[in-house]
Amino acid sequence: MKVLVLNCGSSSIKSSIIDTKIRKELFRFNIERINVAPSGELNGKSIEFQGTGHEAILPQLFKYLDECSFDAIGHRVVHGGADTDRPHLINDLVKNKIKSLSVLAPLHNPINLMGIEAAEKAFPDLPQVAVFDTAFHASLPKRALTYAIPKVYSDKYQIRRFGFHGSSHKYVAKLAASYLGENWRDLRIVSCHLGNGASVSAIEYGRSIETSMGMTPLEGLVMGTRIGDIDAGALLHLMRQEKLSPDQMDQILNKESGLKALSGASSDMRDIVERTTKGDSSAQLALQVFTHRIRKYIGAYTAIMGGVDIVLFTGGIGENSAVVRDRCCQRLEYMGIQYDEDKNIGLNLSDSNNVALFSKDNSRVKLMAVKTDEQLSIARETASIVKERFKVNNDLQIPIAVSARHIHLTQEAVDVLFGKDYQLTKKADLSQPGQFASNERVTIVGPKNQIEKVRILGPCRSKNQVEISRTDEFYLGIDAPVRASGKTENTPGIKLIGPVGNLQLDNGVICAWRHIHMTPDDAASFGVKDKDIIDVKVHNAERPLTFGNVLIRVSPKYKLEMHIDTDEANAAELPMYSEGELVHTDVEASMLNRKTKLNKI
Ligand code: ADP
Repeated sequence: MKVLVLNCGSSSIKSSIIDTKIRKELFRFNIERINVAPSGELNGKSIEFQGTGHEAILPQLFKYLDECSFDAIGHRVVHGGADTDRPHLINDLVKNKIKSLSVLAPLHNPINLMGIEAAEKAFPDLPQVAVFDTAFHASLPKRALTYAIPKVYSDKYQIRRFGFHGSSHKYVAKLAASYLGENWRDLRIVSCHLGNGASVSAIEYGRSIETSMGMTPLEGLVMGTRIGDIDAGALLHLMRQEKLSPDQMDQILNKESGLKALSGASSDMRDIVERTTKGDSSAQLALQVFTHRIRKYIGAYTAIMGGVDIVLFTGGIGENSAVVRDRCCQRLEYMGIQYDEDKNIGLNLSDSNNVALFSKDNSRVKLMAVKTDEQLSIARETASIVKERFKVNNDLQIPIAVSARHIHLTQEAVDVLFGKDYQLTKKADLSQPGQFASNERVTIVGPKNQIEKVRILGPCRSKNQVEISRTDEFYLGIDAPVRASGKTENTPGIKLIGPVGNLQLDNGVICAWRHIHMTPDDAASFGVKDKDIIDVKVHNAERPLTFGNVLIRVSPKYKLEMHIDTDEANAAELPMYSEGELVHTDVEASMLNRKTKLNKI
């Protein structure tokens, strides 16, 4: 497959067309200084542009691409948020998610989205995929991603570790493992990505379990111009003494610190290394601080994984600087590392198929330099998502949403639980038009146990209905049937405790029948009608499966979406924004088919 990779940065656009089968870049178009004086290189040839800014430049770039052929477009997107653990085919949900995360990546996500929307306009028929920098680190355990600040702030502002450079860490870890003839899922790897931005990841059996960049790409290693780890108290002190605004601090921490600050001039490791040889003490200190921090992380991450099999170096510095690698690998024998200085000095990745070992042959832990290729990694991720998607009919994909336990109430019930004429207040809109999650929550009390903080959905309805999972039923001690919404006859009741009063429901507890909302137009294109029962197959999940007995619900008021509960989603380990394939469009034929088979048996 030929993939156009679009990497829209704040001041540059990198684009390539990559043939993923032969792993070859067919075409490269890099544009720098987008906001000031855009200049581009098309396969090494200079190109002129009219105007400035992404909006003006992207259509001109696409004009040049008109003559090229490619099958899909892969976009690098910096922030995918807490629950995005893989690339996604772009749809409205994904675009909204990218937009909503702009608050966490203000310099990147809006521009990534601009690239997506411009490409959609220019190439409306091509599938487009978002590949997220944060996705690989979605596997971080809570203990690694949690900062010790009051929960009220961490919850409200999503203050937690996300991690970045995910595509690179994953790509090089897999490449290093396959070079050794191993599967990366059998190895513990410390991956050091050392470029202008730098981060370390602990990759335990194919999953990122620690990484040095945090909520933003500022934490961790010393970088070209970024500060990396520092005592937060020092920042407060500096802000108070110099009366610095957040924007001024941002500039200092992101643009004026790191190697640039330590060396007193350059952020470029080549200059720094050169100056160390001439006895420049600032450059020597810069190199020492830089490599000391990396060694500290290598030791820490080995401790966290309880051992290590590969320590690898990548990025412009990790791939090219023998001096940096040499300093990082001193005195690591206690970890089972036998460093080979000669191999390190003689190492040249262009001559060695992008991977090279520089530990001694008998070293239990392997030291490696690996050439990263972010564009190729995005192209490959894009191709695999698109291939998976197009194995099935493009038109038969249905977005899947997971419903947590919730309650629908009548206004009378709201009056009892929250006070006379109380009106539910909106926390967030739900995907179905007019529906919302309210701020109000109640406790539900079963014969065995109770569950607190169960959310009420608005607006009020004509019947009370409590929708819980099978797991909740066992916990509460209730035996509720699987029912379509609204069918609450002969269902068990439950006690609700609100802030003002309690309410004993005589019935209304159901386990929601998995269903698909769709408009009459959707129904026509899927070849189904209201109340049909179909199957939905989910490919893109950790544990793919087919959901049988899915109810079709058709109304002009609906938006196309399948609803399942948390038990069902967990069974498949569904990612966020998953989609399903409608398996039987011709329902009667499929039923007939099944009956025939049964008769035969
Ligand atoms: P980015 O994070 O911008 O992608 P790169 O991965 O391209 O950065 O790495 C840029 C860094 O790599 C610069 O600090 C540059 O000095 C350094 N670098 C490139 N070649 C060498 C080299 N031969 N020796 C030392 N450092 C190098």
